[in-house]
Amino acid sequence: MTIFKKIIDKEIPARIVHEDSLCLAFHDIQGQAPTHILLIPKKEIRSMAEVTKSDEALLGHMMVVASKIANDQGLARDGYRLVVNTNDQGGQSVFHLHIHILGGRQMTWPPG
Ligand code: 5GP
Repeated sequence: MTIFKKIIDKEIPARIVHEDSLCLAFHDIQGQAPTHILLIPKKEIRSMAEVTKSDEALLGHMMVVASKIANDQGLARDGYRLVVNTNDQGGQSVFHLHIHILGGRQMTWPPG
């Protein structure tokens, strides 16, 4: 079980900004931008590498929610970045699929 499952189960606190039957979003504990929110499915999926066809509706829903959160957080006009780190070389450290929503500063490319 990961730390994110404990956040879903409300065993540890988080600054939640969105919750519905399929997903949960909360502020990252170590923000890398003025706004840094993590959006996670309630279903325990380890990473993008474990996604299957059966997750299509869930992931589509999460992209719509990510857009709404970014809008609600006032990030849309200036812009923002969605990131899904995947496995070791992708820089993933928590093995429960999550979308980073980062905004409030200029992003650079290529990413580190
Ligand atoms: P990853 O490196 O796997 O893409 O991202 C994991 C993210 O989870 C990191 O940005 C890290 O700061 C965040 N994180 C790790 N533990 C906790 C926690 O207990 N609470 C919250 N809110 N964020 C966490």
